[in-house]
Amino acid sequence: MSNPKKMMRLTVNRYFKLIILLLSLASVSTLASDFMLQLKAADEIRSSDPRTFSVKLNEIRKHSLELSEQETYYLQYLSGYELAFKGDIDAAISIYKNLLQSNADQEQKFRAKISIVNEFAILKNWIEGLQYLDDALKQKESIKNEQLQSLSIMIAAIFYNALGQYQLGYTYSEQLKKIATTERQTCFAAQLALDAASQLGHVKASAQAFSDAITQCEANGEILMASIIIGVQAKGYLSDGHPEETLTKLEQQMPLLLKTGYQPTIGEYYSVLSEAYWQLNMQGKAFRAANNAVKVQSSQAPLNGARTRAYKVLYQYYRSHGDNAAALDAYINYAEADKANLDEIKTKTMAYQLAQHQSIEQQNRITLLNQQNKVLTLQQKLAENESHTQRDLIVALICVIALLILGAAQSWRNQRHFRKLAEYDGLTNIFSRTHFTALAHQLLERSQQHQEPVSCVMFDIDHFKQINDSKGHKTGDWALRNVAQVSRQVCRHNDVLGRVGGEEFCVLLPQTNIMQAKEMAERLRLRLVELYTRDSGYDFSLTASFGVAETSGSSYKLEALMHDADQAMYQAKLRGRNRVCIFAKEECSSLEPAMLPVTTTPTVNISQS
Ligand code: GH3
Ligand code: MG
Ligand code: MG
Repeated sequence: MSNPKKMMRLTVNRYFKLIILLLSLASVSTLASDFMLQLKAADEIRSSDPRTFSVKLNEIRKHSLELSEQETYYLQYLSGYELAFKGDIDAAISIYKNLLQSNADQEQKFRAKISIVNEFAILKNWIEGLQYLDDALKQKESIKNEQLQSLSIMIAAIFYNALGQYQLGYTYSEQLKKIATTERQTCFAAQLALDAASQLGHVKASAQAFSDAITQCEANGEILMASIIIGVQAKGYLSDGHPEETLTKLEQQMPLLLKTGYQPTIGEYYSVLSEAYWQLNMQGKAFRAANNAVKVQSSQAPLNGARTRAYKVLYQYYRSHGDNAAALDAYINYAEADKANLDEIKTKTMAYQLAQHQSIEQQNRITLLNQQNKVLTLQQKLAENESHTQRDLIVALICVIALLILGAAQSWRNQRHFRKLAEYDGLTNIFSRTHFTALAHQLLERSQQHQEPVSCVMFDIDHFKQINDSKGHKTGDWALRNVAQVSRQVCRHNDVLGRVGGEEFCVLLPQTNIMQAKEMAERLRLRLVELYTRDSGYDFSLTASFGVAETSGSSYKLEALMHDADQAMYQAKLRGRNRVCIFAKEECSSLEPAMLPVTTTPTVNISQS
């Protein structure tokens, strides 16, 4: 027996030849330059005519410097295939891996990835094969080329069936059935699905699905596929206890299968036939079939336990014929094949479990990262929300503060309004008696502290009742407003002027002695005399009588000062009105009696009297 590893590769290589054949059909679609056309032409014959394929590749290699970037990658891909075909699978994988790292277009890379899966399957490197398969399956959605997409699903189904993961194989086969674009693909999908379903015990040999699939494949010239399906069905009949059916099916199909020259299936047929013959006690036929099975597969790895079954039949045959030495040999071969078969199943299962474990681990890592990302996002959102909340809070606070300010302003305006109402006389807009009194107290207190003289001028409109009575109340009001206005004009800014009675006014003059106050009172008296009353609608005389007192003569007590001023004013009234009288100094001044509006009393100078 030559290098068993190489033999094993040869067997699986043949099995995966189907995929390679399909890969060549799903060639990349690129702008068809001359070199591109040559590359495609080579691609198309790569499995059917490997020699011409190599010749063509060598021709193109002579012009390698003239190739475009993508043409170079295409050439590399085909060179990888050439190497794999010649048995240098490691070198092929290395080329494909380089392509994955290159600037080759997405489809070319995808093809390289599928090829890597294929090569790892040939190498029985299930673990790495699974990694690339997993990768390809994740990527397939982004591949626009439908043929490449369905090819990746097909390789998944083939790979998982070969791995003994029949449930996955079945799932991908069913997927392939749905997206199959050609009759060939439909036939492939049916074969893969039935193989997986049989292994899972989900389908009976007598099921209509078998006949349908066989008919469909045969109708499309897929003899090998039809043969494989018949093989699966025949095996099913055998395990269902119908060896006659097994024989009928396999014997009928064998001539067609032999024409395909596809050794793994031929070996499988012989192996199953030998078992069926043995069960039907057709020992001679069983022996020949078993020998054929071993011969066909003698240089090949155990596949689905076919060789194991064949050795078992041989052992049983030799034993029943008393050939103990041959029986022992057969038994040893059977045991070895069985062990190899079991080892392979174990290896595959472990590879799958490891891949699953790695995948779960990777998924866990991704989940962890996702969760970390989620936490970060949440933190960001929280921060955003916090800043939003803070902003809202600030806005709310600003609103509250603004409302408070507005409220305070309103209240301040109200207060000012009410204060003004209280402080100012509504009609004349000079200080009210109350406020005048308060300010006067303060002034006197301050002045007393500084020992500064304060004078008090009290004045009262003469015969105001007559104005009211003869010209109306409105004219009276007009007169009051105008007297106040003129008084304000005559007063200094720090004098305190107030309406202290109906038509009585009082001015406190700080830092003013009685003579200065008298002069001021005189100026005011004259201004009132000069007042142009026609603006009221009436032409009438407006005069007032003034009494002046000063702190030096009356004390800094407001009541005393005002009382004394009032006394002097009373004197002014008594002496004929429209005049100024000084308290205690006995001095009054007045206009000519003729100018008085009403002169019932002659002007009297108290000081003169
Ligand atoms: P005398 O020269 O002696 O001061 O005589 P008089 O008429 O001015 O004095 P009297 O005190 O008899 O009259 C004051 C009048 O002033 C009585 C009142 O109706 C009027 N009066 C008081 N307050 C107001 C006011 O706000 N508006 C108006 N139009 N009249 C007022
Ligand atoms: Mg009066
Ligand atoms: Mg009066």
